[in-house]
Amino acid sequence: MGLYDKFSRLAAERTHFQDAGPSPFGTRMDAVYSPTEGRIGDQDVILAGTNNYLGLTFDAQAIEAAQQALAVEGTGTTGSRMANGSYGGHTALESEIAAFLDRPSVMVFSTGYVANLGIIGSLAGPREVVLLDTDCHASIYDACTLGGAQIIRFHHNDAKDLERRMLRLGERAKDALIIVEGIYSMLGDTAPLKEIVDIKRRLGGYLLVDEAHSFGVMGPNGRGLSEALGVEADVDIILGTFSKSLAAIGGFAAGRSSDMEVLRYASRPYIFTASPSPSVVASVRSALQAIATRPELRERLWNNADRLYDGLARLGYSLGPHASPVVPVMVGTKEQGLRFWRALIDQGVYVNLVLPPATPAGVTLVRCSVSAAHTPEQIEQIIQAFLVLRPLAGLAG
Ligand code: PMP
Repeated sequence: MGLYDKFSRLAAERTHFQDAGPSPFGTRMDAVYSPTEGRIGDQDVILAGTNNYLGLTFDAQAIEAAQQALAVEGTGTTGSRMANGSYGGHTALESEIAAFLDRPSVMVFSTGYVANLGIIGSLAGPREVVLLDTDCHASIYDACTLGGAQIIRFHHNDAKDLERRMLRLGERAKDALIIVEGIYSMLGDTAPLKEIVDIKRRLGGYLLVDEAHSFGVMGPNGRGLSEALGVEADVDIILGTFSKSLAAIGGFAAGRSSDMEVLRYASRPYIFTASPSPSVVASVRSALQAIATRPELRERLWNNADRLYDGLARLGYSLGPHASPVVPVMVGTKEQGLRFWRALIDQGVYVNLVLPPATPAGVTLVRCSVSAAHTPEQIEQIIQAFLVLRPLAGLAG
């Protein structure tokens, strides 16, 4: 038995999908021209499969801030904050996120994945129970495995199911950790946070909301779903990433109390990995400023989301539950999905192909995502491509 033998089925399936044309498992962007335009091979494409919700990857001020940091502080920190010390930018960024979210404690991590490992994996040990939405991101599951917590999954977005499972826990519910996401990245739907907060008020527990896809996107000030629903005071920890609306790489956790600070000395994924590079920190600080001072970005994003959702719904496509910056389109079997995804590239539109088991309920979907940087003309071009491809999706031509 070789080390790689256990992957032979996976390898065979991947080969099967690589027979002809671009592969959805390792697409090479041969050029990226802007937040919304790129090239795959010889084909120019509109980028409609990113998490670049506010379109800030090419923001002139963020680029200038990053260039300045590169010139002054160099390309990398070459070590962890615990061993090598924090740069001024790390602590400034933590203070700025804390001020933006009005929270006493913020820890910055090297990615959002690592933030989940570092917070959940440290807080939820073998004696703790974690109640998590079935559709939670892999990093949340991995974090529970790392910490060794008992995992109880509740049905996706089903607060009643959460309540039933909390009740079964009896006294243990008081110390349980409930984990949900702001916007779920596959279907673009949002957690029923008001109902969940109500359960927490009655039965106890701690609430962690991963706002990876909703930070900068939802709420009057862009603070996420918790802000949009007016329940920030009931959320114990907000998790976020720098890789979506903040347009770089990294992650953060924001605590409702400064008790979280102790994790700087206990969280292995915080201690034993290199800290974010100065240029990354500088561009994130600039992007955070943009979120705080340019609400028109969010307005444009939601206009684009509504426009795309309505356009595809009018064409008869089967979509997610409501308009959001993530617009999933159900396209039948894996094979149909792959054909459809490739045909979209031929039409000049790049989206994400998502296959089961990565999708909820075993559906195959092409996941479109919109950006504030898409022009109305680009949204129209995306809709036109879906119009042309209706027969491929089994809709009348
Ligand atoms: N949490 C959620 C809900 C996510 O969707 C993602 C990434 N897609 C992450 C965490 C990980 O974030 P990062 O890319 O910064 O590692």
